[in-house]
Amino acid sequence: MAKQQTTRPQDQPAPCPVCKGSGEVSRTVEVGRKRRTVGKQTGFCLNCLGSGEAPTD
Ligand SMILES: [Zn+2]
Repeated sequence: MAKQQTTRPQDQPAPCPVCKGSGEVSRTVEVGRKRRTVGKQTGFCLNCLGSGEAPTD
């Protein structure tokens, strides 16, 4: 296992762990009771509200 560098400047906001700082997440689109997957779409990340930054509070 490679050691991960976690150092980052103090004034830089941490990237959102859900969307990895992109502000968007891809989700599968499912229809019907059988949950048939019809595709994927990109949506607004609800964890950071699209900012790409991890919420601090
Ligand atoms: Zn996010």
